[in-house]
Amino acid sequence: MRLETALRNGKVKIKKPTDLFVKKVNKYSESLGDAFFLSKADVQILALALELKNMNFSPLIATDDYSVQNVANMMNIEFASLLTFGIKFRVHWVRYCPACKRKYPPNYKLNTCAICGTKLKRKPYRKATLNKHK
Ligand SMILES: [Zn+2]
Repeated sequence: MRLETALRNGKVKIKKPTDLFVKKVNKYSESLGDAFFLSKADVQILALALELKNMNFSPLIATDDYSVQNVANMMNIEFASLLTFGIKFRVHWVRYCPACKRKYPPNYKLNTCAICGTKLKRKPYRKATLNKHK
C-alpha cells in the first residue's frame, strides 16, 4: 500500500532499462566473470543504473550482492549495502481493535472491529531478520 501511494505521488517510479544497456552490462559482467552469478533482475538493475548515469543522473544501487557491487564498481556506479539504509528487519503486522483487543488477520477486509465497530489499529507482531544474500 505504501508502494502504491509512493507510485501515485511520483516518489517512486518503476523503469525498465533499454536493451542497449542490458547488453553493455552483460559485456562488463562477462569480462569480470560475474555473469554467472547475476540474476535477470540484477542485470536489469545494473543496466538501468548505467542508463541513468548516461543521462547525467547519479544512480545509487542498494544491494548486498557481491557480484552486483563488483559490476557496479567497474561501471563507476555507486552502491551501498542495505544495512546503510537501516533495512534490517522485515516487519509483519497484526491488526487489532484498541477497544476490545480482538485481533484480526492481515487479509481481514474491514477497517473496523466486527464486534464493537471501533476503527482497527495495527502493530508489528514479529520481526524477521532479513536473509543474507548468498
Ligand atoms: Zn472491538
